[in-house]
Amino acid sequence: MSSPIRKITIVGGGSAGWLIATHLISTLGRQQKGPEGIDVTLIESSNVPTIGVGEATVPGMYGLLKQLGINESEFMQYSNASFKCSGRFSGWNLDSNGLPLTFLNPFNTGTFLNGFNTAYHYHRFGPREGATSFVDNMMPTQAVVEQARGPRRPGDGDYDFRVPYTYHLNARFFAEYLGGIAQFRGVEYISDDMEDVELDERGYIAALKLKKHGRHPVEFVIDCTGFKGLILQKVLKEPFIPYGKSLLCDRAVPIMIPHKDPTRIEPCTTATALSAGWSWNVPLYDRVGTGYVYSSQFLTEDEAIDDLLQHLGDQAPKDIDPKVISMKIGGCATPG
Ligand SMILES: Cc1cc2nc3c(=O)[nH]c(=O)nc-3n(C[C@H](O)[C@H](O)[C@H](O)COP(=O)(O)OP(=O)(O)OC[C@H]3O[C@@H](n4cnc5c(N)ncnc54)[C@H](O)[C@@H]3O)c2cc1C
Repeated sequence: MSSPIRKITIVGGGSAGWLIATHLISTLGRQQKGPEGIDVTLIESSNVPTIGVGEATVPGMYGLLKQLGINESEFMQYSNASFKCSGRFSGWNLDSNGLPLTFLNPFNTGTFLNGFNTAYHYHRFGPREGATSFVDNMMPTQAVVEQARGPRRPGDGDYDFRVPYTYHLNARFFAEYLGGIAQFRGVEYISDDMEDVELDERGYIAALKLKKHGRHPVEFVIDCTGFKGLILQKVLKEPFIPYGKSLLCDRAVPIMIPHKDPTRIEPCTTATALSAGWSWNVPLYDRVGTGYVYSSQFLTEDEAIDDLLQHLGDQAPKDIDPKVISMKIGGCATPG
């Protein structure tokens, strides 16, 4: 019978690496499980920066951070985070009069009334006068977003809410913050570059070769090197499955812009359809992450930047030199 895994090594210290490290140490670490617990080591290159363009997170982030016992107020301050109660889709379709449609996608499906979801009553009896949609009619989300309010009342504690939410955050600061928590809880941190991987006779990973620390034996390793996929793709040659035929957007131009009014931070991510893709707007606490995801089949880099600047109008900073990022569209799935 094989012996249980006692050591897990993570390569990469971006948001993915530190989230996994924090999760593993908090649930399976020695502080929790005693001698039966596992050791977690995270190796990160100081030469390869992490990504941080102003990220909007999915609703599951709320529950994950709460479960990990993260101090929410502290994490939000460190990560320049703000609340996100909804996603707004603007101009993706036309209404019956041929005008661009805008709608909110909230994080819940409505409450129950007389044993039926409010969607039932809405479809049965129609909207109240003046209401434009199910969300506007039945949920507080639209009012919260329009009035740039938070999901909880003054005096409510961390993780309390009246309207479900998640976060906008700076992923780089978020990773740094989690790094501090994870190390405090027992994760060993090694600042070094992984240069190569040693395989055993079965083709399994036996050790990592680090630039300064030399051979680093591993029992179980998790590749969190981001777009590079240094272990999964470069060493284990896991096939990259391209989705470019159906997901056409393969370029992104990220920029940061100042808030129009820093006292009004909308708790909402907006995705606005443009000529060959869409522009995101992620209001962080200190500024707004925005940019354009587009398809290079239809626009040159200069055309895309012009489109974005036109969309931003007078919100576009004067002296900027936007850089286009090329994205490989698809995924790499591997068991274990
Ligand atoms: C334009 C744009 C917009 C995005 N918007 C969103 C969004 O709204 N919401 C969202 O969830 N995500 C978004 N993303 C994606 C998100 O930013 C990234 O996927 C995520 O932050 C990447 O985290 P990561 O930890 O996987 O990788 P990274 O942050 O890239 O970290 C990689 C880590 O690997 C380390 N590393 C690399 N090579 C080595 C080596 N040889 N040895 C040791 N360590 C090494 C690096 O030092 C770094 O610590 C966006 C991405 C882009 C480009």
